[in-house]
Amino acid sequence: MQIPLVDLKAQYAKIGSEIDAAISEVIHATAFIGGPVVKRFEQNFARFCSAQHAVGCSSGTSALHLALLAAGIGEGDEVVTVSHTFIATAEIVRPMGARVRFVDIDPDTFCMDPAQLEAALTPKVKAIIPVHIYGHPADMGPILEIARARGIRVIEDAAQAHGAKYHGKAVGSLAGLATFSFYPGKNLGAYGDAGMVTAESAEEAERMRSLSNHGRAEKYLHNEEGYNYRLDGIQAAILDVKLRYLERWNEERRRAAKQYDERLKNVSGVTIPKVASYAEPVYHLYVIRVAGRDRVLNALREQGIDAGIHYPVPLHMQPAYKYLGIREGSLPETERAGREVLSLPIYPEITEAQIDQVVTALKAAL
Ligand SMILES: *Cc1c(COP(=O)(O)O)cnc(C)c1O
Repeated sequence: MQIPLVDLKAQYAKIGSEIDAAISEVIHATAFIGGPVVKRFEQNFARFCSAQHAVGCSSGTSALHLALLAAGIGEGDEVVTVSHTFIATAEIVRPMGARVRFVDIDPDTFCMDPAQLEAALTPKVKAIIPVHIYGHPADMGPILEIARARGIRVIEDAAQAHGAKYHGKAVGSLAGLATFSFYPGKNLGAYGDAGMVTAESAEEAERMRSLSNHGRAEKYLHNEEGYNYRLDGIQAAILDVKLRYLERWNEERRRAAKQYDERLKNVSGVTIPKVASYAEPVYHLYVIRVAGRDRVLNALREQGIDAGIHYPVPLHMQPAYKYLGIREGSLPETERAGREVLSLPIYPEITEAQIDQVVTALKAAL
């Protein structure tokens, strides 16, 4: 039996009629861009992550751009983030006239290592972007402390972590600015591209709302040049339906992770994901370290199990970042993660029998 990495068909099979009705409502109201459904979803999402303000936008990537603009990033500035992430976290920095600096990760959580942060800071650094990778929150306390002491802004990249908690507080409300992606495969996914920025300051939220809509103050009055980064009504309607299920789905992901943990904790050659004492993760991905990773991955795929690698080539070793001139070996934990990580299938609907099948195939491959 085939087991996909994520199963969006199983989800639609359960809530399809609600989704279809929500889409139909938007079509009948012809509220395709912005409008009451977008507003309602923004309010519901802000409440979900205990954020003061939420601004819907066209993707997690445009959310990052808006947040960096709100933080005042521009020509000559530097932005610190991790190299063990999807390229969207970093790629908008250079077009803004700024430069990226990478910090190594904590090998337990795969998130930014606060102990390495100080050494990466220069007087030009104006923002730090920790990533709550795989749905596990970064250690925000020490990161915020270091940043505040220097007047540096912190932006959470929460694209993989809708609903995760740090010391009991929801991600998206921890640093004053946070970005979310609703790419279809994310824990909360649209039926196309969509994203959100959350903000503590009303002023910054309004600026981002305006920037996302051509710098508009009112219909044909523009305060500044902006972008077309708006959220579609149909996507907002779909997301608003799904948001009602998100808590339950995240609970199901934790159930699945626990079942994997129990079956894999004593398997030699496998390291199961660790959960920091401060963290309540949401398992966007269930990522193990495994000896002979590429061989194991191929063996699983031959058995019809769609495992994955997130991410095989760290950003600083990508052709796209050659211009930074960072040599191999300079971010050792990031590079080791690239060699060892393996993502096993996880989604709320995954059954115990499917997990058993993955574990059996994995043990055989070892
Ligand atoms: C998905 C993702 C993004 C980008 O989101 P898009 O909606 O695809 O633009 C940014 N950062 C991380 C960590 C992601 O996983």
